Amino acid sequence: AGPDPAIEEIKEKMSAVKHKILVLSGKGGVGKSTFTAHLAYGLAEDEGKQIALLDVDICGPSIPKIMGLEGEQVHQSGSGWSPVYVEDNLAVMSVGFLLGSPDDAVIWRGPKKNGMIKQFLRDVDWGNVDYLIVDTPPGTSDEHLSLVQYLSASNIDGAVIITTPQEVSLQDVRKEVNFCRKVKLPIIGVVENMSGFICPKCKNESKIFPPTTGGAEKMCNDLNIPLLGKVPIDMNIGKSCDMGKSFFTEIPDSPSTMEYKKIIQKI
Ligand code: ADP
Repeated sequence: AGPDPAIEEIKEKMSAVKHKILVLSGKGGVGKSTFTAHLAYGLAEDEGKQIALLDVDICGPSIPKIMGLEGEQVHQSGSGWSPVYVEDNLAVMSVGFLLGSPDDAVIWRGPKKNGMIKQFLRDVDWGNVDYLIVDTPPGTSDEHLSLVQYLSASNIDGAVIITTPQEVSLQDVRKEVNFCRKVKLPIIGVVENMSGFICPKCKNESKIFPPTTGGAEKMCNDLNIPLLGKVPIDMNIGKSCDMGKSFFTEIPDSPSTMEYKKIIQKI
């Protein structure tokens, strides 16, 4: 078979996007989508930059909920699909916008998932984009392979991997790192989320998930990859996300916001 014309079109379209970042995690529930949304919010604080967030977490698209976009639908525009704008310079496209209700499940086989990723990359009318941030499903799956193939690994700035300090999560991160190395996807670094809990009453830190194996720090040293930062468990993060609001605006001076912003500066 000759080259897939869709892939050529995607490559051409994506060559205009200055930066492309994939957000990965070994497991679900570690804070990957929360991170993706806030990376986009953080980058969009520079009004001169255009940010696009693409949510291809097909089995659990939580970006619409986290960013207060539930019930939004994809609209057809003259030149393709229009994304949903959270701010003038922050456009979002999520597989969740294609579902009738947030409780609908997507039960798709590999080829259909790949077809959708192709459509998202080729047919969405993003306009000029400085940063394309992609929220991917947990683990490594067809979706990751498609993204790496369609965007071409060499043309992606790299992957940010989110984990908790627990060995069950770290174990899967090591697999993720191996995947990245196999497909030659650069690793920007690892974020340890839910790293500890600072009691709002006594201000002491408790290790909710004691890192029995040295946590993300030791893993990053062992694997020679950067640790971008450690974000504590913060009740306000969960609360803001449930309300569909950025915790950067809800709790601007909190240690979590400051740590997140430090991490974004490194990206
Ligand atoms: P994933 O995308 O990895 O499945 P989510 O980003 O959906 O995970 O986060 C899972 C849950 O944990 C959400 O309810 C989110 O609000 C919450 N959460 C994420 N990070 C933190 C944190 N640092 N402190 C408290 N809650 C968090």
